[in-house]
Amino acid sequence: MATEQKYFQKGFQLKTVVGPVLAANYHSTVVERLKEFGYAARAGDVRLRLAREFGFCYGVDRAVEYAYETRAQFPDRRIFLSGEIIHNPDVNGRIEKMGIRLLSEAADPVTRYAEVQKEDVVLLPAFGVTVAEMEHLRGKGCVMVDTTCGSVLNVWKNVHYYARDGFTSVIHGKYYHEETKATASQALTHPGGHYLCVRDRAETEVVCGFIRGEVASEAFAEKFRSAMSPGFDPARDLTRIGLANQTTMLMSESLEIQEMLRAAMRDRHGEAELPRCFRAMDTICSATQDRQDAVLRMLDEGGLDLMIVIGGYNSSNTQALARICSEKLPTYHIKGPEGIVDAEEIRHRPVGHGNEAATAAWLPAGPLSIGLTAGASTPNNVVGEVVERLLALRGRKTDELQPAAPPK
Ligand code: SF4
Repeated sequence: MATEQKYFQKGFQLKTVVGPVLAANYHSTVVERLKEFGYAARAGDVRLRLAREFGFCYGVDRAVEYAYETRAQFPDRRIFLSGEIIHNPDVNGRIEKMGIRLLSEAADPVTRYAEVQKEDVVLLPAFGVTVAEMEHLRGKGCVMVDTTCGSVLNVWKNVHYYARDGFTSVIHGKYYHEETKATASQALTHPGGHYLCVRDRAETEVVCGFIRGEVASEAFAEKFRSAMSPGFDPARDLTRIGLANQTTMLMSESLEIQEMLRAAMRDRHGEAELPRCFRAMDTICSATQDRQDAVLRMLDEGGLDLMIVIGGYNSSNTQALARICSEKLPTYHIKGPEGIVDAEEIRHRPVGHGNEAATAAWLPAGPLSIGLTAGASTPNNVVGEVVERLLALRGRKTDELQPAAPPK
């Protein structure tokens, strides 16, 4: 009897089956029109500019397609999704409506996958899962459909090499983010492997301070209690370090963090020793970088009054886009069209804050130029609905849109 295949990483070649459903769910004619008009359009006194790279990235596209293919391939099986497939409430909601159950996060795999049985199917998200979760699921004997993005796998490979070569992985990322947790777990696959997660420049300053002998072990341990591998000893584990990133962080900040740590290691060990104690590779994915570059170009071109950044509040790459924009313009990071309550109120996530806030009198009167971008997990239909809502505030409809040249 043939053994049932239990692990799938390349989908089920059902694109022709799920393609029409995906198009019906996520396509937007408004977005297509904006693209046809060269990403700049106007209706009445409202001008809209859309960043040239925005929305679904290759990894998310693939993960969402595999989720739909999995439903088609296993119509009679229970399907579980380990957390959110991507950080977008609209997409996760549609997936749940197909009868795929989202499992909530838990400290350990036994709790998280308690309900999963041998005959069930588990979808693994684009940002991957930890080594421990993977092993636990293998042990259960269930079918796994792994949608981990190739760019995330590339980071894992680097972290793996660091651990193999006796380097501690210093990961620029949020220690509680699924991708960073999964990446960090790769550092423990070699005996003696360690990791440390740093979120931003301020945290990196503390690490640099320790390396230079200016910060005590106790203060270090207090600061990074939740962000370092078990048994981490900074005196031992920060003597050889390798840099990696969560793929969706702010590129400019990642490079700065890299330089800060390089300088600290040079101060401590000397220039000649640097190749033996410091490694770095840029693991920001190209989709994240393209979206950040596109929004920077749009901001540099000028002529905008405000920015709308669309994406899940827990989406790191959307947060990074909002941060870039907020340095230049009033910026509103909204989950979707429901954030635009009316011309008097917008509900959004202010940059650097965890919770949603309401801002009043956000929409200036008179002629208006609005810039738009969306994180890598935001589908076009959501972008299109936001455009509709924005135009409606000024009594305009999407079929009134006409091409508008971007500023020279
Ligand atoms: S943001 Fe980058 S790493 Fe994440 S799924 Fe998209 S392409 Fe992959």
